[in-house]
Amino acid sequence: MTTADVTIYGAGVFGLSVGWACIQRGAKVRVIDPAGVASGSSGGLVGALAPHVPELWNDKKEFQFQSLVMSEVFWRDVEEAAGFSTGYARSGRLQPILDEAALDFAKTRAINAVDLWRGQGEWHIVGAADHAPWAPRSPTGFLVWDTLSASIHPRHATTALARAIEKKGGEIVGEGREEGAILHATGWRGLMELSERLGKVVGNGVKGQAALLALDVRGKPQLFGDGIHLVPHEDGTLGVGSTSERFFDDPTEIDQGLDDLLHRAEAAFPFLEGVRVLERWAGVRPRAMTRSPLLGAHPLHEGQFIANGGFKIGFGMAPRVGEVMADLLLEGRDAIPEGFRSEANL
Ligand SMILES: Cc1cc2nc3c(=O)[nH]c(=O)nc-3n(C[C@H](O)[C@H](O)[C@H](O)COP(=O)(O)OP(=O)(O)OC[C@H]3O[C@@H](n4cnc5c(N)ncnc54)[C@H](O)[C@@H]3O)c2cc1C
Repeated sequence: MTTADVTIYGAGVFGLSVGWACIQRGAKVRVIDPAGVASGSSGGLVGALAPHVPELWNDKKEFQFQSLVMSEVFWRDVEEAAGFSTGYARSGRLQPILDEAALDFAKTRAINAVDLWRGQGEWHIVGAADHAPWAPRSPTGFLVWDTLSASIHPRHATTALARAIEKKGGEIVGEGREEGAILHATGWRGLMELSERLGKVVGNGVKGQAALLALDVRGKPQLFGDGIHLVPHEDGTLGVGSTSERFFDDPTEIDQGLDDLLHRAEAAFPFLEGVRVLERWAGVRPRAMTRSPLLGAHPLHEGQFIANGGFKIGFGMAPRVGEVMADLLLEGRDAIPEGFRSEANL
């Protein structure tokens, strides 16, 4: 007797989101991950769900836009099924406008956002002084405030996804039988293995280190400044990220790189001085060489599928990745943008 319509390798946010989307359509789902739920890149602490700038629109920006727009309902459904908070909050983002040229761009983007974001979010120029002290440094005295950005607690969100899947009858196991449609969502290690077996680099891993701080600024917009993200969480903690390390020996080791990041964060955001660090964390982002997600037919296993390459915005993309992959796995319907298609980009 068949006990699964879909078997998914990898219990990160991609594998779990596809699993959840399939369960919502009535499929029986088995997720296999020997290392356990969110043991890779998805077990993190930052969780910025932020849009691309509203200009030079393309498939990738449109896909991510759709994903951000559907996130609210997606994560609310997960929370309801799981009985556990994902930390999702549509709280916007503030970022500095560094010079006069950037101010001109920002004004154009505010106009573009009306069309491109279709009433789902706004792009405003605001005075930095009006938001102080919760604001990034801005030499022009102005900030961009967008209302499309949201935040989530990655570790809580993946825990909630896993619980939701199990509560709806799905299985999450360390090992198990392959049945039904088979998806590989195995993160950076999957991309390394693929590169090795194809004899060319199709993707790799980019390590990141981040920290969780004891600063309760829940409900405030996330800040981006001096290359650093500050993401307020609904549990009264603050995610601070991240380093970006192409070369590394140990994928989970915490080193001086994180101390340096925290010093830079304190210099850029003086209100962080003296705030207690609750946790330090490192993970490896799966990066396809296209820098876009890699979705569709698996290049090595005929008849099987791949969902990988979330890189720096995997949580932002996950709801729509779940949707298009469920279309493909369960209904054979292919809504994958050309630039993400595994067949076209490997
Ligand atoms: C420091 C840092 C900060 C980040 N900040 C953000 C952010 O603010 N916003 C955002 O959207 N994204 C962010 N990201 C990126 C995001 O975390 C990733 O894009 C996302 O987690 C990728 O999810 P995944 O499911 O593809 O991979 P992973 O989470 O790595 O999951 C892959 C899973 O596959 C399993 N696996 C591997 N091999 C096998 C196998 N053979 N069989 C079965 N299972 C296997 C692994 O154990 C792992 O659990 C950040 C990442 C890092 C590291």
